[in-house]
Amino acid sequence: MTKSIKSECRYPDSSVLYRRLKRSFPLIVRGEGCWLYDDTGRRYLDACSGALVCNLGHGVSEIAKAMGEQAGRIAYVNGTAFTNEPVEALAAELAGLCPKGLNKTLFMCNGGDAVEAALKISIQYWVESGKPLKRKIIALNPGYHGNTLLAMSASARPHYRAMFKDWLVDVRTIPAPYAYRCACRGEKKDCPACGAGALEEVIRREGPDTVAAFIAEPVGGSSTGASVPGNDYFRNVRSICDRYGVLFIADEVMVGAGRTGTWSALEPCGVAPDFLLFGKGITGGYAPLSAMVASERIVDVLARGSGAPLHNQTFSQHPVSCAAGLAALRYLKTHALIERCARMGRLLHESLQKLLEHPHVGDVRGRGLFAGVEFVKDKSTRTPFPRRLRLAETFTEAAQAAGLVVWPNTGQANGTDGDLVMIGPPFVITEDEISEIVRLFRIALETTIETIK
Ligand code: PLP
Repeated sequence: MTKSIKSECRYPDSSVLYRRLKRSFPLIVRGEGCWLYDDTGRRYLDACSGALVCNLGHGVSEIAKAMGEQAGRIAYVNGTAFTNEPVEALAAELAGLCPKGLNKTLFMCNGGDAVEAALKISIQYWVESGKPLKRKIIALNPGYHGNTLLAMSASARPHYRAMFKDWLVDVRTIPAPYAYRCACRGEKKDCPACGAGALEEVIRREGPDTVAAFIAEPVGGSSTGASVPGNDYFRNVRSICDRYGVLFIADEVMVGAGRTGTWSALEPCGVAPDFLLFGKGITGGYAPLSAMVASERIVDVLARGSGAPLHNQTFSQHPVSCAAGLAALRYLKTHALIERCARMGRLLHESLQKLLEHPHVGDVRGRGLFAGVEFVKDKSTRTPFPRRLRLAETFTEAAQAAGLVVWPNTGQANGTDGDLVMIGPPFVITEDEISEIVRLFRIALETTIETIK
């Protein structure tokens, strides 16, 4: 590094290509539990675990030690030629945590990789099953599955897609089960969006012989702000997929690995998908790792056919990342952190409900340590603020200035307008820290309303 590092880093003073080119970034030098510290000693309460990643909290030396030991023994082997101890052990642990039959895992680096792998292997499965016409994908709107082009094709987020529209493949969408924004307000059992009838309609319209897979987040991620579907939703999805021979891909990149109080967010529904995807929290952020857990029934077809899944990457099955995943999983178990997530999640939701007293907090929802707070201009009509006010972004900046880190999202009301923030602290959060989240949230909200007036 040629220049000395400044506590506030920004473009163009640094050689880093930042994610935002019009603001400065505090330089974080260490973390502990739910707190981040910058180089001036200022601290921030990490209420969204980075990007819903740091489930175990910051600064867990056991994970760092496991990674260091593995790197010292063997850091990399090519997955085409060899296997390694951590990948074998982690895959076996995951098989023990996933529904029966879901026991073949391909490890990659990012959530988007896992999404792409599951979509491509779905197509490969149908080709090798003698049904090459089954190629269409169905996804939820709004929904998000990643930034690479196939994952973005499956993501109904108009503002991310607009510039690349002509490069994206055609993915059919159905309305997401998003009760707060649904005309039925989540109250009608026969609502096609909230009850999954829309999935059956689109499969029949497209022709079941042409549909390969349906991909969905079992609890809505940031694009619907932790919207939790009714208990029957995914049971209906499973039976519709079975009836029409459509594979079901559960994208738990954000909501899996314990975040909603169970290892898999689908667990309370009692149904098994054909692919279960993990990312973000699977190592607690100590190494980049994602996992596509596939059903043996699907992999068997490839084993009898071509003999190889058509999705490989240099860093798949990476020993050091898998060692981080294994250590993270064991840490979660030893410290009963998923149980803690469920318990502290109830407290978090009770505390966040108090924000509903504010005239511009329209809804607070979620499960476990996973919550979305949606802002509206008018509570009775659920009218969003106009996008030009950039409320979610203004709020996030005000929160950071107050020492609270949250994750913003926009556009969920109508594709353009809509403001929400996600709250998802590390599972080690304490009662006092939850009270501090709410206190700082209120301060940031008052500042935001003053700023946009
Ligand atoms: N799927 C879901 C549900 C996500 O929330 C995300 C990222 O936020 C992804 C996939 C993509 O993950 P990554 O950014 O690691 O590629």
